[in-house]
Amino acid sequence: MTTSMAGYLTRKGLSGQEKYPLVMMLEPLHTCNLTCTGCGRIREYKSTIDEILPVEQCLKAVEECGAPIVSICGGEPLMYPEIGRLAGEILKRKKHIYLCTNGIFLRKRLHDFKPTSRFFFNVHLDGLEKTHDICVERDGVFREAVEGIKAAKAAGFLVASNTTIYKETDIEEIAELFAYLQTLGVDGHMLSPAYSYSSVMTQDIFMSRQEIQEKFRLASQLLERYNIVTSPIYMEFLRGERELMCTAWGNPTYNPRGWKGPCYLITDAHHETFKGLIENTQWDKYGHGRDPRCENCMVHAGYEASAVLGGNKKLGDTWKMLQWTFSGKMGGLSNGKAAKVNGNGHANGNGKGKAATPAHAGNGAGTSQVAAGPAQEPKENEVFRIL
Ligand code: SF4
Repeated sequence: MTTSMAGYLTRKGLSGQEKYPLVMMLEPLHTCNLTCTGCGRIREYKSTIDEILPVEQCLKAVEECGAPIVSICGGEPLMYPEIGRLAGEILKRKKHIYLCTNGIFLRKRLHDFKPTSRFFFNVHLDGLEKTHDICVERDGVFREAVEGIKAAKAAGFLVASNTTIYKETDIEEIAELFAYLQTLGVDGHMLSPAYSYSSVMTQDIFMSRQEIQEKFRLASQLLERYNIVTSPIYMEFLRGERELMCTAWGNPTYNPRGWKGPCYLITDAHHETFKGLIENTQWDKYGHGRDPRCENCMVHAGYEASAVLGGNKKLGDTWKMLQWTFSGKMGGLSNGKAAKVNGNGHANGNGKGKAATPAHAGNGAGTSQVAAGPAQEPKENEVFRIL
């Protein structure tokens, strides 16, 4: 992923193209087997929830967009009948995939995929067992997701976790969750502030910018030792240490209605083509201070790409991003061995347990990157050789 992304950025930089995507959000369907409290998709697309994109239409969109990374989300992508064929065809086009799932069907659909370094399962977990099951409004989901993660790791897949931080999120519990996931061999952890969808009725779960910054300052302290795969510049933004401009075109969303404009959160139009989205969206109308709907938005879909694509660049940003990119943050376990799982794997999964430390994880047999200490950073000339 690192070399693909570096090559892609170099080519785009040389071409002088101003607006180009880094990660395409592909929603082949909006159907889901859960009704999570904070989910805007099942609400916004309620009237078209049964619509589904044919594989060929998805591939046409992937090709037109050209982003090197495709995040297959939804809805629940493992409910998409041809998910194996879709992923296989995208991989054939030399893309990288994050498949975002709630994990319920992970064991059932695992045989549809083949492990490769270009494919990650990205399993959504918003806390330990009790908390997560409350967030997704169904008992047993945490346990099923954990069983899915174990099966995926045993089969040789890369697995990341994805956690949404809400107003009520207890960051210490998230540290406990990450410690537990490390024992399962999970390769990295993504974090994002909750999306403030206008279609979600319970608005009190979402945070103001100031609240997000406080939460992420704490998260940075408590979660520093874990393999967080959020970029350093986006983390600085989330902690309120710098300003970034929204670059929503960096993470465009395609779904059964078309290209969602301007962004993953706001829908002012659906465009038939990616070119139409880029050319017919008045991008300077959107972002913090420009549109009231953007006021508290700090989501990755608007800002994670900004460090690379946007304005407000600082001296040293490029080097900071390169260092992070080449630090081996993704791919977690340095020698490929997962730590042993303690007991039944759920001892800490009730939100009340004591946090396992990396040293405890796997009874000392763990070989995760965290347990092994910081990853080796490549020398400067090595970075430029790869570029
Ligand atoms: S600031 Fe957030 S809501 Fe506004 S356009 Fe950007 S990503 Fe969308």
